[in-house]
Amino acid sequence: MRHLFVTHSHFDHVGGLAPLLTALATSPETSLTVHATPQTLGALRDLLSLTIPGVADWLGDRLRWAELIPGKPSIAGNAEVTPFLVDHSVECVGFRLKQGGSTMVHAADTRPCPNVVEYARDADLLLHEAYGLEDVAKQAHAFGHSTAAEAQAVFDGPVEVSRDLDAFDF
Ligand SMILES: [Zn+2]
Repeated sequence: MRHLFVTHSHFDHVGGLAPLLTALATSPETSLTVHATPQTLGALRDLLSLTIPGVADWLGDRLRWAELIPGKPSIAGNAEVTPFLVDHSVECVGFRLKQGGSTMVHAADTRPCPNVVEYARDADLLLHEAYGLEDVAKQAHAFGHSTAAEAQAVFDGPVEVSRDLDAFDF
């Protein structure tokens, strides 16, 4: 792994970074660039200072931080990744990833959001979270999420619902 793109600072999205960096420390030929907005990078550094203080010193140049600017594409290997702001309870970005002739959009955690509709247009694959069905819509929106029907409404292609990512082969 060479590039890690982080959507936002909630623990279920960043909690794996400390174990990942611990594993990286034992693999001297491997390096990692962590991409996130300045606010999320600050939260990641704070988290690491609590969980594995000194990790940046251990890893040296093998750990790099890259600030993302919403709307501005970044290059990671042979992929172009464009972050875009979504509507969550903290600052959060989705990603439009172009590689070869294919485009994938990861909507991240979000309430229904015009930016997701715009960035998902003409994509080959949209990964969109869903907090639940319409009966929990009020709670989903309160926590910054979408319902399954709201997620489905974003995409004009065929829709497949999965409770995890095992259904897809990336
Ligand atoms: Zn979240």
